[in-house]
Amino acid sequence: MTVAGSLREDGAPGTAASATHGVGHGADGGNAATSGALDIAGGAAMVDLHHQGQATIIGVGVLELPEGGVALVDPGPEARLDDLRAGLAGLGRTLNDVRAILLTHIHLDHATAAGAIVREAPGAIVYVHAVGAPHMADPSRLLASAGRIYGDAMATLWGEFLPVPRRSIRVVDEGDTVAPGGRRFEVAYVPGHAKHHVAYCEAATGTAWVGDVGGIRIRGGPAIPVTPPPDIDVELWKASMDRVMAWDPERVVATHFGPYGDIEAHFGELAGELDAWALRVRESLDDDAFASDRNRATAFAEWVTARIGRKVSPAHTDLYGTASGFFDSWWGLARYWRKRGAA
Ligand SMILES: [Zn+2]
Repeated sequence: MTVAGSLREDGAPGTAASATHGVGHGADGGNAATSGALDIAGGAAMVDLHHQGQATIIGVGVLELPEGGVALVDPGPEARLDDLRAGLAGLGRTLNDVRAILLTHIHLDHATAAGAIVREAPGAIVYVHAVGAPHMADPSRLLASAGRIYGDAMATLWGEFLPVPRRSIRVVDEGDTVAPGGRRFEVAYVPGHAKHHVAYCEAATGTAWVGDVGGIRIRGGPAIPVTPPPDIDVELWKASMDRVMAWDPERVVATHFGPYGDIEAHFGELAGELDAWALRVRESLDDDAFASDRNRATAFAEWVTARIGRKVSPAHTDLYGTASGFFDSWWGLARYWRKRGAA
């Protein structure tokens, strides 16, 4: 229990942050207000993909480009491409207008639509970290492992993961700057949730697009982590939170869901929840009363549900469950501990 004890007491050693990006021009994105898209300052909006028929679970960033067209941040699952089309139409755009896709990471709920979009907009450039780039060009291995997890639900949840042509891929990493269509974004490498995770910050607008490094926070509820296998690393994630906060952004935009301006409170709560989840999983691994890991994961999911349920309504808690998958999160943190010698 020394490990768990040190976790509880010194959130400090690895305290970190993640990244973001922003958009830098334009007025208030006036058309967003009437389109159904969520307006974000500085010529940006967020289109709701209505994942599993529910609002505010997965959002796609849409950035108006001064040189014409739009850039997308994390286009989401291919299964929701029609929702993306509808959202773009509300902004007076089509998939054909896409000039760039900024991927924060390649998890299926963020990235599977990229190949299909490039098929419709062949000039679009896809920005992605080096660890994720090979899987965007050839998703077969990723799909094989995801298939073992999702089975028959693969197509319904994520759709068809088409490869992105290698000529359309640009690898990005810590310290890079990308400037699609006349907007400028700094790139930070922000592992911890995934080892292929980057964040994009636009200094001109003060907006940081942080993918899942900012955790999940829906409709102003609590900020919580999402910790699926296989890359979860608590210390790296907290360091990535610090990395994002080092940008001193005015707002961070989480894929699940939307912009938040209370940066310190947001990441403070997220880091605290990450520690609490990690401790809970560690304790379950040490507890021989559980007959199996499935039982541990089920009990963990119930614990998280109750924990969130103390803060928001049951329906609101359900949205968090849809966005996160608490059962899966146990396995990610269990893997983290076992790499460090846990039972
Ligand atoms: Zn993710």
